Amino acid sequence: MTDFPPRRTARELDRDDPLSRFADRFEIPDGQYMDGNSLGPISEDAERSLDRVVDEWRELGIRGWTDPDEPWFTYAERLGSMTAPLVGADEAEVVVANSTTVNIHTLVGTFLDVVDSPTVLVNDLDFPTDHYAIRAQVRQRGYDPDEHLIAVESRDGRTIEEDDVVAAMDEHDPGIVFLPSVLYRSGQLLDVARITEAAHDRGILAGFDLAHSVGAVDHDLSGVGVDFAVWCGYKYLNGGPGAIAGLYVNREHFGETPALAGWWGHDKETQFDMNLTFTPAADAGAWQIGTVPMLSAAPLEGSLRMFEEAGIETVREKSVSLTTHLVDLVDALSEAGYDCDVGTPRDPDRRGGHVAVEHPEAYRVSLALKERGVVVDYRPPNVVRICPAPLYNSHEDVWEVADELRTILDEAAYEQFDRQDGGVT
Ligand SMILES: *Cc1c(COP(=O)(O)O)cnc(C)c1O
Repeated sequence: MTDFPPRRTARELDRDDPLSRFADRFEIPDGQYMDGNSLGPISEDAERSLDRVVDEWRELGIRGWTDPDEPWFTYAERLGSMTAPLVGADEAEVVVANSTTVNIHTLVGTFLDVVDSPTVLVNDLDFPTDHYAIRAQVRQRGYDPDEHLIAVESRDGRTIEEDDVVAAMDEHDPGIVFLPSVLYRSGQLLDVARITEAAHDRGILAGFDLAHSVGAVDHDLSGVGVDFAVWCGYKYLNGGPGAIAGLYVNREHFGETPALAGWWGHDKETQFDMNLTFTPAADAGAWQIGTVPMLSAAPLEGSLRMFEEAGIETVREKSVSLTTHLVDLVDALSEAGYDCDVGTPRDPDRRGGHVAVEHPEAYRVSLALKERGVVVDYRPPNVVRICPAPLYNSHEDVWEVADELRTILDEAAYEQFDRQDGGVT
């Protein structure tokens, strides 16, 4: 216990924080919000862009599609351009559209139609919706997903070895490898460049789900030649519950036929000619489907401007510093004899924006934290996910969360909660 670092160590780390000015622009309920990897909080900036679009709707009505400074008709392309620096892509390669799950459907479907092998390589720690969508796409092409969805197995239940991914490419000859950049439970950051290169060496396409990294980790999708990617707008991007998602298609694949075609993906110049022949846009915009949901997109504009202002490299640097601090504090607890452990890789290059704290009573520990105003979430069987987000959390916030954890473990305060497992918390 005596070895638990004092609050002052956190304050020292906060002293030169280049992002400290952003926290006041978020509205966060009392306590500690450590769940930005599930749902980012509201900011003044996001609210302002949403309010502006509501005003445009009121004042301009249908003319909103054409008349505002940011016309709704090209708003998805505009937000795509604003997102491009976060993922390291050209503006034309990114658009906001649909939901993440729908984007997996349309992109995996599109590329299944292009490749020779109908097998998709995934992993057994994936977020479930990714498998549901891919299985459906494989099935719709007349193949048995039990045979053609191959999941690389984790050795330790936490992480996926890139070596195993490469070995599985050789063993199963997939047409596509589709992996998360960051695993949603353990927070492991996979080596996107290495996997992409290994895939391309074997004539395999590489796609990634960036849901747990976009807005926390900088990416270089174009630079490393990733073929396609998807991500959420409501996690680290703070776009609001159910916000419009994003997608990236490498320019090499412009002109492929979208699996789920719709008029919003039509070439913008002639979209309103209402021709019954679908002429897809010449860029990533082609993978849009229906009308851009303006009210689920507008908050993202203000939020993306904050990222423009902050710079994604600075965001990533602070994120690494926050998670390193958290790892150190949890290590101090386990050295002091508490039954908790860090389930996230310790190498910052292999870590996304959150830390998985493992404890046999993780479920009840997460309830005890929440009772003390610390918002975290529980992921079965034994993980409390703690996510300090660079734009609104400080090292001192992290310290306070670890200090609450210390008190809870010290007093076995979690024992007052029912042991009933299951469900999302
Ligand atoms: C959050 C998340 C999703 C969510 O998909 P929606 O379509 O927005 O519900 C998908 N995949 C991963 C890996 C996620 O973390």
